[in-house]
Amino acid sequence: MTRVFNFSAGPAALPEPVLRQAAEEMLDWHGAGCGVMEMSHRGKEFMSIIEQAEADLRELMAIPQNYRVLFLQGGATQQFAQLPMNLLGGRSADYLVTGTWSQKAYKEAHHLAGAIGGKVRLVGSTEACGFTRALRADELALDADAAYVHLCTNETIHGVEVGDDGLPRSAAPLVADMSSHILSRHTDVSRYGLIYAGAQKNIGPSGLVIVIVREDLLGRASPLTPTVMDYKVMADNGSMLNTPPTYAIYVAGLVFRWLKAQGGLAAMEQRNIEKAALLYDFIDDSGFYRNTVEIGSRSRMNIPFLLPDEALNDAFLTGAKSAGLTQLKGHKSVGGMRASIYNAMPVEGVRALVEYMRGFAAQHG
Ligand code: PMP
Repeated sequence: MTRVFNFSAGPAALPEPVLRQAAEEMLDWHGAGCGVMEMSHRGKEFMSIIEQAEADLRELMAIPQNYRVLFLQGGATQQFAQLPMNLLGGRSADYLVTGTWSQKAYKEAHHLAGAIGGKVRLVGSTEACGFTRALRADELALDADAAYVHLCTNETIHGVEVGDDGLPRSAAPLVADMSSHILSRHTDVSRYGLIYAGAQKNIGPSGLVIVIVREDLLGRASPLTPTVMDYKVMADNGSMLNTPPTYAIYVAGLVFRWLKAQGGLAAMEQRNIEKAALLYDFIDDSGFYRNTVEIGSRSRMNIPFLLPDEALNDAFLTGAKSAGLTQLKGHKSVGGMRASIYNAMPVEGVRALVEYMRGFAAQHG
């Protein structure tokens, strides 16, 4: 068996020890005589799995007591709709658009507001500059009475990231799509009203989305909200109104345990800073590759880069694949390449990529 260095944006590489443990427990979880996929979600075995997963996530992110953690389905895309259904409450919400994902979230909320009542305002966009930077707090005309302010703190396609220090300043609850950088850095959860993240990058298998929501925001859903999409109903039922994505929750739990063993988010953040610096420094000094995102807005997780000529892309990808470096093709809306270097990507993977890129540039420069 040869495992490659997999730079996929998602579903993305998972930590190898997690996959090994899942494989080992596939047929018989802790003497239950069956695997996690085959057990009742209401049995004591699975209840212990979901409770431990939540406890570990709470510990990793230091989630305050007045926040609920929901394990839901439908991906982050479903949250684009679920969010306004639950939080708009006939009022107005502010949306920041800094890339494809926050734009999709805005469009979906805008579309729904017409049906459920309420307003959705676009308060700032970087589309004119090709989504190459975050929005600065001083360029936003925010509504202090907004039901919430939505942003995507890591734009997976454009490679634009903001941390807690780059958040908009508003009295309204902040809602963040953290799908592609959750658990990669310190996050002060208390600064957000709601955080959501699809699992398939830094958490586990696709099909699971995690919502971390402040309790006072529950119970505001539009009457048109389907029961299964009502955050309060889900919170009241421990994410088990219906059958939750049990296997994905189990793997997420293994990832949380792995993260704790790595030293938690402080250690992960240091490693992620080091990995990203390695690649950005090489790109900037290469005189061959280019990353066009403003330096202060560059993502540590998703690093898009262009070759001097798009005609070289195929040769780059073919050579990379032979070197055991896969899924580097950039999103079609940006072109070029994209290296996604989530928590599970070891620094050796980034070093191997840099060495390959150096060789390719020498050959084609
Ligand atoms: N938001 C972000 C930031 C994403 O990266 C993605 C998926 N790449 C989504 C939302 C949509 O996620 P899903 O496909 O799970 O609906």
